[in-house]
Amino acid sequence: MAAAFVLAAGAGLVAAASGGQSRDDGSRWWSYVQYLASDQMQGRQTGSPEHRKAAEYVAAQFERDGLKPAGDQGYIQPVKFKTLQLDESHSSLALVRNGETRKVAIGPEAIISARVDPAPKMSAGLVFVGYGLRAPESHYDDLSGLDTKGKIAVYMSGGPASISGALISHYSSSAERWMAFRSAGIIGAIGIPNPKHMDLPWSRIAASRTQVTMQLAAPGMNDTEGEQIAITWNPEKAEDLLRGTGHTLDEIVAASEAKKPLPRFEIPATLEATAAVKRGDVESQNVAAIWPGSDPELKSQYVVMTAHLDHVGVGAPIDGDRIYNGAMDDASGTASLLDIADHLRAAAVKTRRSLLFVAVTGEEKGLLGSKYFAAHPTVRDQDIVADINCDMFLPLFSLRILTVYGLDESTLGGDARAIGSKMRIRIQPDPEPSRNVFIRSDQYSFILHGVPSLMLDFGAEKGSPQAAIQKRWLSERYHAPSDDLNQPVDKPAAAEFNTFVMKLMERVADAPSRPEWKRESFFSRYRPAAQ
Ligand SMILES: [Zn+2]
Repeated sequence: MAAAFVLAAGAGLVAAASGGQSRDDGSRWWSYVQYLASDQMQGRQTGSPEHRKAAEYVAAQFERDGLKPAGDQGYIQPVKFKTLQLDESHSSLALVRNGETRKVAIGPEAIISARVDPAPKMSAGLVFVGYGLRAPESHYDDLSGLDTKGKIAVYMSGGPASISGALISHYSSSAERWMAFRSAGIIGAIGIPNPKHMDLPWSRIAASRTQVTMQLAAPGMNDTEGEQIAITWNPEKAEDLLRGTGHTLDEIVAASEAKKPLPRFEIPATLEATAAVKRGDVESQNVAAIWPGSDPELKSQYVVMTAHLDHVGVGAPIDGDRIYNGAMDDASGTASLLDIADHLRAAAVKTRRSLLFVAVTGEEKGLLGSKYFAAHPTVRDQDIVADINCDMFLPLFSLRILTVYGLDESTLGGDARAIGSKMRIRIQPDPEPSRNVFIRSDQYSFILHGVPSLMLDFGAEKGSPQAAIQKRWLSERYHAPSDDLNQPVDKPAAAEFNTFVMKLMERVADAPSRPEWKRESFFSRYRPAAQ
């Protein structure tokens, strides 16, 4: 009862903030989620007929709301992919020590990632490189002073306390990490997730290993060219991997938690890998639409809102359910695009700059649809002034706190704070930088092209019941079939979130000058020289 009372008060604020229109109970937003996350959509796998159907649905909604087509073929931007799927019956991993070979159990112990195109057969020595990060501007280098040539680097996820979360996120991206590894002569990688910061239990990471992975087919867009193997190792089974080194994962995790430097050392073993891969080609769809601006000059500039249309499709059954509906991940964000588009029409909103809505594909394959769009935008790339991304924002309780990723990197943070204070929503920065959220969704594709960007999520006070709800959601429903339509969702809170996003976009679209990276932000380096 108390929760319902709080919700009503919250919704009242939205109505006041949006000019006294009637209270939005979130049912329109939910109707879009219902369509996109229904079982008929089969989990919206990139390249599937169901994903195409979802893309056509989004395009039809945009058209109904009077938005202009902004794809390459109407509202659709086709994107071509190469597919890779590990053929596990013809793949193997083994550790060799003192001439003794021990087979590594693929699944329970470690998995071979097909996101990196693996060499058919390889064998190499191992070296533990701490977090495996190289951040020149912080004079930090986990690879220095070690014999890494021709070896496989073993690292634990995360980063040192001496480096900002944004930098750790950036240098943890597969592209940056591989660039550093390759320059140190490293030929492959074994990542061990820090067990204290895992979003998914190992069983679900392992269950995803037979998923088809994808790479953009367009030339020059594969970030891990030359990497011979990428493995993720179960942290609970790291003991044997580290045997004979005098170190344990417990000790390494404890050092990380205590913000102490991690040890780096040789591992007296060789890894032997055989990897067979099935290959194919698919085409999938980005969907793009424009709400034209009203200012004769500024309307050629675009404030972008993104959300990903794809999810992970049909997979290993959990509790008898094989359909990974992806209701929160990210039908919820796509529904927000549609909900805001609908509001623009209904309220005849006028903004000086144009608004560009892009529902991207291939996010779950490594931000590939947004990467393609940012590299091949359907408007002039220098005219994209901002990206606001909504991915799995988790409206599971009322909207009191909003986590804004990238808050202190650009002037967009000030815009978010201004809307927050009007709507009485507390704005907070990334509370857990070690999860690398800032580089794990589509805003990152725009950031790499110099576009100031934010991602927004519901926030919670540390140790609060809401924080526990979020944590439970991640461990129970994230990338599981239970992220479906049968879960408790706070719809009025989602509507309030959408109001926030819309007001933020309006503010940025109407501002006299375009958003800018802060001079001290690491990401300002990607700003094009022309600006
Ligand atoms: Zn996801």
